[in-house]
Amino acid sequence: MRLVSTFLLLTLSWSALAQEVAWPGGVARIDLGPAEGTAPAAYYEDKQVLVANVDGRWQAVVGVHLDAALGSAAIRLADGSTLGFDVVEHAYREQHLEVAPGYVSLSEENLARVGRERSVIDAALNNWQDTELDGVSLKKPVDGPHSSSFGSRRFFNGEPRSPHSGMDIAANAGVPILAPRAGIVTATGDYYFNGNTVIVDHGQGLVTMYCHLSEIGVETGQIVAIDDRLGLVGATGRVTGAHLH
Ligand code: ZN
Repeated sequence: MRLVSTFLLLTLSWSALAQEVAWPGGVARIDLGPAEGTAPAAYYEDKQVLVANVDGRWQAVVGVHLDAALGSAAIRLADGSTLGFDVVEHAYREQHLEVAPGYVSLSEENLARVGRERSVIDAALNNWQDTELDGVSLKKPVDGPHSSSFGSRRFFNGEPRSPHSGMDIAANAGVPILAPRAGIVTATGDYYFNGNTVIVDHGQGLVTMYCHLSEIGVETGQIVAIDDRLGLVGATGRVTGAHLH
């Protein structure tokens, strides 16, 4: 009897793809029970996290910071109860890149520019839009092989810099970038490191960002549907060649 119920529990968690372990920079997916009524609110480090209906069950989708501490972590529900998950070690690769010197040692003017842009970008990335989400799937925005360099410890011209906080897709300059799901454009701009950039908010903290574009095809405030053209692949900002970040 015990064996049977264990099997059922495992089957349920598999069908909901719950994954109650993550590494820094990874995603924990925590099962919150059958998707009935309104989605329960859940918080990680006092920030609300995405809760989506995944195959008929509520699932908290928790992005874990790249610099998160290893060990036990937890999300908190509105009633004060907590659900734990483990943050485990992950060996990220090192990446050594050569770029123009101005992208490694910044002038005072460019340093100030980066600071101003950081607050605009952070505001767009941290925006919370209380929309209902049916799953969290994203269509690939351009065709092409993607690197597994998310989280890589990076050295530019031999100098250590922040880890790579994105995924790169190899594509030629001029290839159209298509929205991976519906959303609203919350920022566009020509930023020092990211070059021409578009940020799309899909709701509940699910935000996607497209960098190094040769051309931006949308405006802030614009509502986009899946497959709408966001811009064109390029090589603007701190890059070694054309690709989509
Ligand atoms: Zn990148």
